[in-house]
Amino acid sequence: MRIALVGIGKIALDQHVPALADSPDWDLAATVSRSGSVPGVDAFTDIDAMLKAHPDVGTVSLCLPPVPRFDAAVQVLRAGRHLMLEKPPGATLSEVHVLADLARAQGVTIFASWHSRMAHGVAAAKAWLAGKTVHKGRIIWREDIRKWHPGQDWILAAGGMGVFDPGINALSILTEILPAPVHLRTAELDVPANRQAPIAARLNLSQDITADLDFRQEGPQTWDIELQTDAGHLALRMGGNLLEVDGTRVDGQDSIMGEYPALYARMAGLVRDGASDLDLAPMVLVADAFTLGQRTTVDPFDF
Ligand code: NAP
Repeated sequence: MRIALVGIGKIALDQHVPALADSPDWDLAATVSRSGSVPGVDAFTDIDAMLKAHPDVGTVSLCLPPVPRFDAAVQVLRAGRHLMLEKPPGATLSEVHVLADLARAQGVTIFASWHSRMAHGVAAAKAWLAGKTVHKGRIIWREDIRKWHPGQDWILAAGGMGVFDPGINALSILTEILPAPVHLRTAELDVPANRQAPIAARLNLSQDITADLDFRQEGPQTWDIELQTDAGHLALRMGGNLLEVDGTRVDGQDSIMGEYPALYARMAGLVRDGASDLDLAPMVLVADAFTLGQRTTVDPFDF
């Protein structure tokens, strides 16, 4: 199946292009980007021009930041093409509902991808937790914004979600593996004086689960989820890729490189089945944190 990529930036080049190059399902036929391109692939700067020139492209994958993504998504759906969205699926929940309705009306697939749910240890963690009761838990998601998002001012602007851009990955895993639904109780948001979105956040969730999200971590990076249950202790480390039970590694791989191949395999299956996958649970928790969160102004941040 022929696919186009829109927004040739960091994640497109780091993950989407390699995943598509090795995919048995997809042929990357076109790109749309104001400045980026992929060698050997037909490049456009305008999405409508690409859609007109490439009736063979049945699927479009959007790798843009969340704020500019909606208009591009509408163009893709109106052209009757299947749509795959990077996480988070939009800047607001209401716009994603609009996209879901439009996809249904057009009879095409929409896939809100959550790459961390494809991490190597997540399915095994979900299976191990099934039928157990979670008593307590903690998420520690601390990474270096300068390493993973160099110069990306959009991420600390309104709609960029700040530290929830990576933090939503943890919440996407949590909402996938927990045997019972979780909701937000309180949130504290640290917003730099010269920015609009939080650079750090602390959440209290039901089931006595806390989350410590921070974009200012230098040195070793931490992407851990730990859950205490009635039948033992589960830890997912390396962003969901390593699974430990009671301190012993039981599953997973020490690599993040399986996530995007798995996402594109899932998208291929959805298109073949005429199905869609649009789970907004992680984004609801983030929206609730912005609704309930107590804001503190912290030191200005510059890249
Ligand atoms: P990025 O490199 O800053 O942006 C991606 C591309 O989007 C840019 O190359 C740019 O392409 C286009 N773009 C940026 N702002 C735009 C605007 N206002 N209007 C139109 N196009 C615009 O961002 P990224 O890191 O790839 O992240 C993109 C998405 O992937 C985000 O939702 C992020 O959460 C997700 N993601 C990122 C990472 C990561 O590690 N960085 C990991 C997983 C998921 P042109 O200027 O060439 O048009």
